[in-house]
Amino acid sequence: MIVGIDLGTTHSLIGTFGEHGPTLFPNALGDLLTPSVVSVDADGHIIVGRAARDRMVSHPDASIATFKRFMGTPRETRLGKHVFRPEELSALILRSLVADAEAATGEKVTEAVISVPAYFSDAQRKATRAAGELAGLRIERLINEPTAAALAYGLQEKPDGARFLVFDLGGGTFDVSVLEMFDGVVEVHASAGDNFLGGEDFLDVMESAFLGDEKLATDTLSPQERGQLRRRLEQAKRELGAQGSAGIEWRIGERAVNWQIDEERFARLSDPLVQRMRAPLERAMRDARLQPAQLEEIVLVGGASRMPLVARMVSRMFGRLPLRHINPDQAIALGACIAAGLKSRDERLEEVILTDVCPYTLGTKVSRRDEQGREQTGFFSPVIHRNSTVPVSREETFQPFRDNQVKLTLEVYQGEHPMADRNIKLGELDIPLAPNRPAAQNSVNLRFTYDVNGVLQVEATLLATQERHELVLEQNPGLLSPAEIRSRLQALESIKIHPRDKHENIAMLARAERLYEEYIGARTQLQQWIAQFRTVLDTQDEQLIREHRRQLGQALDTLDAHA
Ligand code: ADP
Ligand code: MG
Repeated sequence: MIVGIDLGTTHSLIGTFGEHGPTLFPNALGDLLTPSVVSVDADGHIIVGRAARDRMVSHPDASIATFKRFMGTPRETRLGKHVFRPEELSALILRSLVADAEAATGEKVTEAVISVPAYFSDAQRKATRAAGELAGLRIERLINEPTAAALAYGLQEKPDGARFLVFDLGGGTFDVSVLEMFDGVVEVHASAGDNFLGGEDFLDVMESAFLGDEKLATDTLSPQERGQLRRRLEQAKRELGAQGSAGIEWRIGERAVNWQIDEERFARLSDPLVQRMRAPLERAMRDARLQPAQLEEIVLVGGASRMPLVARMVSRMFGRLPLRHINPDQAIALGACIAAGLKSRDERLEEVILTDVCPYTLGTKVSRRDEQGREQTGFFSPVIHRNSTVPVSREETFQPFRDNQVKLTLEVYQGEHPMADRNIKLGELDIPLAPNRPAAQNSVNLRFTYDVNGVLQVEATLLATQERHELVLEQNPGLLSPAEIRSRLQALESIKIHPRDKHENIAMLARAERLYEEYIGARTQLQQWIAQFRTVLDTQDEQLIREHRRQLGQALDTLDAHA
C-alpha cells in the first residue's frame, strides 16, 4: 500500500487513496491527529503521540515536541539514555503512523508520499527523505504542503493560468504560498511566512488576558499549574470560535476562579498577531507579482485557521471569502493521499506534476562605496532570488574593487539579509585576476545554477582571458550520509517501541501521571489509582484491563473537570 502522510510540527496524519477517494486512518486511541511528540519511558522504550504529549508535563526531560523546526540541522536531543537527530525523531513518528495504517487495513505499507513546507530547503527535504528511510519506507515523493492543500480542494481541475493563495496557520508556524496551474502542473510561485507565529501565540494572548483579569503573575504559578491553566484555555480558545464566548472554571490554591471571554475581546487582544500575518501575505503577493483580484481562490488550512478572526482578516485583506470547508487540520493529509493515489490508480490525477522553488536567495559578498566614496564592505549581493522556480541559472558581472587587484575572493551566501555575514556562508572561491589592469578591465562573470536536487554550481569566468573557475556546493553538514543512515537504521531498529495494542494503557497511565503532577490535592488518590491499574495490567487479562481502563478514564475526567 502507498500512503500519504502530513508530518506536521504539532500533529501528524496518515491515510491512503482508496476506492472512495482519500481516507485517513485513526491511531490506536481512535484519533486521526497524532501529536508529533516523542517520549522515552524508564525502561528506554519509545512512546509516541498523545501519551508522549502528556509526558511533556510529567517527564519534560524525557520528551520532545516541535522537532520539525530542526530538520536539516545536526542538532541532537537527549531523551533518557538515547540521543536522537531530528530525522530519527521524525522516523519514530512515521513508524507509529505506519503501524496505525497497517492496523487499519491489514495491508503492509511499502511506499509513502510525505508533505513538506514549500519553503523547506534542500537539506530539510533530504532530512525528511532520510526520516522515511529510517522508518523503513520508500519515499515515493515529497509534496509541498500548499500543493497538497490545493489537491484536497480539487484546484488542479481549474483552468490553466489559475492562481491560488494557500494560507496555513498551524501550531507554531505560518506559511503563505501562491500557486499557479500551468499546463496541468501546479507550480509554487512564491512562499513566505513566519516560523514563529501560530496557534500557540493566540493561546498566549488568552493566558495574558486571564492573568491580567485575575491579577495573577506567571511566576506565581508552578509549572504544573501553568500546564493545567493552558490546557483549559486551549479548550476555551476552541469553543470561542464555535460559540462566540467561552470560559474556564479553575481552582488555584484556595481560590475558585470563573473566567469568561468573548470573541470580540479576544479578537481585539489578538490584533498585533493578526497584523503580523499581513507582512508575509503581502510579500508572497509581491513576489508573485499579483493583485488580490487575480487570485482564483484563497484556501485556509492549519488548525489555527479555524479561528473566525483569521477568516475575517483574510476576507478584509483580499475582498472575498476564502475556501475553508475541508477540515483545516486534515486538508494537507488528504492532499498527500490524493498524491499517493496519483501513482497507483486514478489517471485523472496523473497530470499533476509538482515543481519547486529555490527557498532562499543565493548571492555573494561585495563592497560598495558610500556617498563620500569610501569603501564599505560586507554587503550581500543576490544572484538568484528567493522563490525562483528551479532549475534556475543567472549571471551577473562583477568588477574588482581596486585597480591592479591580483585576486578576487568570491564568497557565496544564502539568506535574505542585506549584510552578507547575517546570512549563511556556503563556500568560497579564489579567482586569480589578470595582473596590472584597471578594475574596469578585470571584470568577472558569475553564473549561479541551482538545480532540482539543491546543488548550487558557481562558475566564474574572467572576461579578459576567458579563464573559468568552478565551485560546486552540495554537501551539507546538516545531513546524514547513506552509510550513516544505514548504521542509524540498525540502531533505531534495536530500540524497543511499545506495541500498538499497549497504547491505550500507556496513554491512560501517562494521563494519570500528568494529573498527579498537576493536582497536588489529589495525589494520594491518583497514586492509588495508578497502583491499582498497574496491578490490573500485570494480570494480562484483556477484558479486566479494558473494564478497568474505562473506569479509570471516567474517574480522571471527573478529576480534571472539578479539581
Ligand atoms: P501543525 O501544522 O503545526 O502540525 P495544526 O494544523 O495541527 O498544526 O494546528 C495546530 C494548532 O491549531 C494548535 O495551535 C491548535 O490550538 C489550533 N487549533 C486547532 N483547532 C482549533 C480551533 N477549533 N480553534 C482554534 N485553534 C485551533
Ligand atoms: Mg501543518
